Amino acid sequence: MTPFDALNSDTAASAAAMTRRGPLIDGFGRGVTYLRVSVTDRCDLRCVYCMAEHMQFLPKAEVLSLEELDAVASAFVELGVRKLRLTGGEPLARKGFIDLVARLSRHLAGGGLDELTLTTNGVRLAEFAADLARLGVRRINVSLDTLKPDVFQRLTRRGDLSKVLAGIDAVQAAGLAVKLNAVALKDANAAELPDLIAWAHGRGMDITLIETMPLGEVEADRTEQFLPLSRVRDELASFWTLTDLPLNTGGPARYVRVEETGGRLGFITPLTHNFCEACNRVRLTCTGTLHTCLGREDASDLRAVLRAGGDLADAIRLAVSGKPQGHDFHIERGAAPAVARHMSTTGG
Ligand code: SAM
Ligand code: SF4
Repeated sequence: MTPFDALNSDTAASAAAMTRRGPLIDGFGRGVTYLRVSVTDRCDLRCVYCMAEHMQFLPKAEVLSLEELDAVASAFVELGVRKLRLTGGEPLARKGFIDLVARLSRHLAGGGLDELTLTTNGVRLAEFAADLARLGVRRINVSLDTLKPDVFQRLTRRGDLSKVLAGIDAVQAAGLAVKLNAVALKDANAAELPDLIAWAHGRGMDITLIETMPLGEVEADRTEQFLPLSRVRDELASFWTLTDLPLNTGGPARYVRVEETGGRLGFITPLTHNFCEACNRVRLTCTGTLHTCLGREDASDLRAVLRAGGDLADAIRLAVSGKPQGHDFHIERGAAPAVARHMSTTGG
């Protein structure tokens, strides 16, 4: 039974009614103040750990229109969400993306939102940098795993590194702060990570390393490339001084300062360190499905509620009340992915 079947039952309806007022709190007492919205499942790259080479993308009719994305995201803002991250797939590849940012930016102006931001592969960033700055986006995440054009081409199966570097130049010139995200991969970029970190810090950017997560079928066996960040950290600590920072971004990253470069380095370790206790986020797919946990199969169909003219606020509260306590990732040779949907569907 989905939460929306349950919505019709008396018990569920009265539970929702009891929590109709006040902030969004899940069944474990965690406040939900952060929404990630995947605005498209499509992408102009095919990163080997993220997508299969020949992906089946969703039919357009299943994808929420810009107006619908605005309506659902705005319902969350009305329920106390303070931070909105637009992601994908590749958000900048969604037609009309800047119009969506323009619509949502009214919540920045109106004080409903503290932050409107995005995660992008950076390929088309140069085109959009000035608009993003104008609309109140102050910092963004750019995913970049390597500074070597050939490795970039191989990892993304088609990307041109120079476009991403031009995009980073453009957004920094427009005054936005950039944080890099890099997936740590045993063969592809492990040896290069110190250079990537030093480069990011030299340009005034934070950088976060991410372990590969078992989300969706890809051709490669992720165990071949899985690199525990505990090992990366030990390696870095053999030649740099890493000082733990109490910095809490509300996210799963644990930060250190690299004393030699003066920059901040984050570690996201879903497989070696469970980060669920303080989780404040939920994720909306481009089809309007709400996932309250990245690593579980729980799903609530907000599109059905929206298109039936139902009460989005009630539906959201009910879904949040059922947010699982945590994920259960493990990565084992030959094992099926923990979750069948790709990161590009859920929104990274
Ligand atoms: N296309 C945008 C980008 O690449 O930044 C946004 C979407 S992408 C799915 C968001 C983030 O998820 C990227 O930083 C990417 O490296 C990361 N990612 C994708 N698949 C992953 C996986 N299986 N494990 C860990 N991180 C993954
Ligand atoms: Fe596209 Fe981002 Fe996935 Fe790479 S990680 S394939 S850029 S959605």
